[in-house]
Amino acid sequence: MRDHRVLADRVRVALAGGAAAEARVLVAADGLGSPTRRRAGLERPVRAPERFGVRRHAEVPDAGDAVEVHFGDGVEAYVTPVGPRQVGVAFLFERGAARSFEALLGRFPALAARLDGAAFATPARGAGPLARAARARVADRLVLLGDAAGYLDAVTGEGLSLAFGCAIDLAALLPGALARGATAHDLAAYETAWRRRYGPYARWTRLVLALSRRPGLRRRLIALAAMAPRPFERAVAAAVG
Ligand SMILES: Cc1cc2nc3c(=O)[nH]c(=O)nc-3n(C[C@H](O)[C@H](O)[C@H](O)COP(=O)(O)OP(=O)(O)OC[C@H]3O[C@@H](n4cnc5c(N)ncnc54)[C@H](O)[C@@H]3O)c2cc1C
Repeated sequence: MRDHRVLADRVRVALAGGAAAEARVLVAADGLGSPTRRRAGLERPVRAPERFGVRRHAEVPDAGDAVEVHFGDGVEAYVTPVGPRQVGVAFLFERGAARSFEALLGRFPALAARLDGAAFATPARGAGPLARAARARVADRLVLLGDAAGYLDAVTGEGLSLAFGCAIDLAALLPGALARGATAHDLAAYETAWRRRYGPYARWTRLVLALSRRPGLRRRLIALAAMAPRPFERAVAAAVG
C-alpha cells in the first residue's frame, strides 16, 4: 500500500503498480514503523533509550523444551526451541551494544561456544527502534492494529498475542461500528479494548526492562525464583496470561 485517503463514506488506498482499492474501514497492521500511522497524523514521539532486535535460526542436535534468557550489559540473548532440532537465537539490545549478529553472539561466550559450527537456517533479520507510540488507535474509518498501534519491547516475549487478542476484539465490535458510520467516535470501543490489553503488557515490560538494567537486583530475584519456582511461575502466568 502506497497511500490512503479517508473520504466521507469510505477509505481509498493506492496500491503498488497504480492499482487502487476502496473499503468502509482501513485496518492498518503495518508494523513498528507504520507508514499509515504517520500519514494519519497519529505518530507520538517516544522518549526512551532506543532498543533493537535481531534474530536467526540455528540447527542444533537437540533444541530441548526450555526458553533460555541470557542477560548481558545492554543486551539480552534469547534461545527458543522452534522445532526438535532448531532454535531461534534472538538478541535485544540498546543502540551501540554491537554492530552485527556475530558481534552480539560474541558478547555471550558460553552461548557462542555451544553454537560454534552450527548451521544457521535463516539470515539475520532485525527490527527497531522497538518502542513506538500512537496518539490514538482509531480515527475516522481507520484502526491501528499490532505493533502499529504501539509497542514497547519484546523483552517479555510478547507482541503476537497482543496483536491477535486485539484482532479478536476488533472483529467483535467492527460490525456495530461500521453500521453506525465507522467514525473515530463509533470505533472508540476498540481504543478501550486495546488499552485493556496493552496496560498489563506495558507494566510487565517496563518492570522487566528495569530489572534488565539492574544486574544486582536481577541476580537476587533470579536466585529467589530458583528457590521458590511456584510463586515465580504464578507471577509469569499472571504477566503473560
Ligand atoms: C527480535 C524480536 C523478537 C521477538 N520475539 C517475540 C516473541 O518471542 N513473541 C512475540 O509474541 N513477539 C515477539 N516479537 C514481537 C513481534 O515480532 C511483533 O509484535 C509482531 O510481529 C507484530 O506483528 P504485526 O503484524 O503488528 O507487525 P509485523 O510483524 O511487523 O508485520 C507488519 C507487516 O506489514 C507490512 N507492511 C509495512 N508497510 C506496508 C505497506 N505500506 N504495504 C503493505 N504492507 C506493509 C510489513 O512488510 C510486514 O509484513 C519479537 C520482535 C523482535 C524484533
